[in-house]
Amino acid sequence: MKLAPGLAIQKSPIDGRGCFATQLFPKGKKIAEYAGELISEREVALRVKTRRKHRICAIERGRHLDGARGGNGTHYINHSCRPNSYMRITHGHLLFMALRDIQPGEEITCDYISTHHPDDYRCRCKAEGCRGTINRV
Ligand SMILES: [Zn+2]
Repeated sequence: MKLAPGLAIQKSPIDGRGCFATQLFPKGKKIAEYAGELISEREVALRVKTRRKHRICAIERGRHLDGARGGNGTHYINHSCRPNSYMRITHGHLLFMALRDIQPGEEITCDYISTHHPDDYRCRCKAEGCRGTINRV
C-alpha cells in the first residue's frame, strides 16, 4: 500500500488500525484524497454483504471507491462523533479536509454520518457526546 504523504497507519484506540498524521495539517487544508478501486452499485451490494468491515465510499451516484484495493491510507480513517476532519466531494474526487489544526501523531477521524453499515452498528469513538451509532439515524 502506498500511503499518501503525511499519513501513517497505526493501532487505533477507536477500532483496529487507524490513520494518523505524521505532519501538521492546518485547519481548512486538504489532508488527502480518498483512493480506491472504482466499483459499481451491484459490486457494492455484494461486498457489503460478504465483509464484516468494509471501506467503501460513494463519490457520486453509481460511483463508489473501495479503499481496500488501491487505497492510500485514508481508508483507515475511523469514524468519530467528534471528528477532526470532514469529507468534501468535488468534481468526482473525495477529499478529506482538516476541521481544525491536526498535529503530528494525532489520529485522523471523520464523521461518516451515513454508511453501508447497518444503522445499529455501534460507534466506539468514546468521544464526549458520542451518539452511539456510526450512522446518524
Ligand atoms: Zn461515537
